[in-house]
Amino acid sequence: RMIPVGVIIGALLALVVLLRARYQLSFKARLREALRRKEFHMVYQPVMDLRTNRCVGAEALIRWSPPDEPPVSPAVFIPEAESHGLIKQVTAQVMEMVARDSVALLTAYPDTHIAINFSAEDLHSPQMEGQLATLLQHAGAQSRNILIEATERGLMQPDKAKGRLVSVRAQGFKVAIDDFGTGSSSLSYLATYDLDLLKIDKMFVDSFEQNSSTSKVALHIIEIARTLGLEMIAEGVETERQRDTLRAAGVQYAQGWLFARPMSMGDLMGFMRASNDVASVAPEII
Ligand code: C2E
Ligand code: MG
Ligand code: MG
Ligand code: MG
Repeated sequence: RMIPVGVIIGALLALVVLLRARYQLSFKARLREALRRKEFHMVYQPVMDLRTNRCVGAEALIRWSPPDEPPVSPAVFIPEAESHGLIKQVTAQVMEMVARDSVALLTAYPDTHIAINFSAEDLHSPQMEGQLATLLQHAGAQSRNILIEATERGLMQPDKAKGRLVSVRAQGFKVAIDDFGTGSSSLSYLATYDLDLLKIDKMFVDSFEQNSSTSKVALHIIEIARTLGLEMIAEGVETERQRDTLRAAGVQYAQGWLFARPMSMGDLMGFMRASNDVASVAPEII
């Protein structure tokens, strides 16, 4: 006798739902454990000045290497931490690590910056920047050297977000919109918020490989930002063609594998030294 197909499909679906729920549960448990055991560390990706070829700072990016397991990408676990209500604890550890790691660099190079990524919930909790300011103070660093990157998702409730950004900047932090151009109301943000910087999303940077309509849109957005006096960091620059297009369009800063991959703070110190020495001895002719 045959079992009806509907029953088999139903059973399989139930199994999938069950396994998913178990996976979700165990992921949350693993994240909690990772927080408790402090299994995270930070890497730092250099940001270059396209006019001078000097390194002007770096973006702090979190890494999770569970013991005896392959590393988990932040593109995977940050959204999980957000949906399980654990992101504020992750960000608290990020802020501690960045404050501790950056003092030496910021003391040796006081005109450089370190960027920290804030999730939507971080941005919406009023005590966050105060905590960061205190951590920095204790470590011996200053908030004016810290750039806070907020995604467009974090700015979705403009009334709320506007006040929050004002207070973040009042503490001395600089503010950037991350992944700029990927959201639906990007351009309206430029008029709504007081911002220091825009981070031009990799999608736009990639478009400069061809003369596509996306690349035309990207160039117009860059032009608008320039007219408004906003500085820009282009993300994910991998080729010389992309770099040259951005430079010609007047984008001041860039990060990407063309210049450097994310690295340890120790390596960043060396990179900073080399980049500044080389640039002053043999500036590239623009
Ligand atoms: P994001 O803030 O937009 O960071 C840029 C991502 O692009 C990083 O990925 C970086 O390693 C990668 N990248 C840089 N240059 C290149 C390039 O030339 N080519 C390519 N293909 N990729 C490049 P990563 O480190 O895997 O981080 C992914 C995302 O996870 C970040 O995107 C950010 O949204 C989130 N994230 C990372 N660290 C943190 C953190 O400390 N806190 C929070 N809330 N989110 C974080
Ligand atoms: Mg970022
Ligand atoms: Mg980004
Ligand atoms: Mg991005």
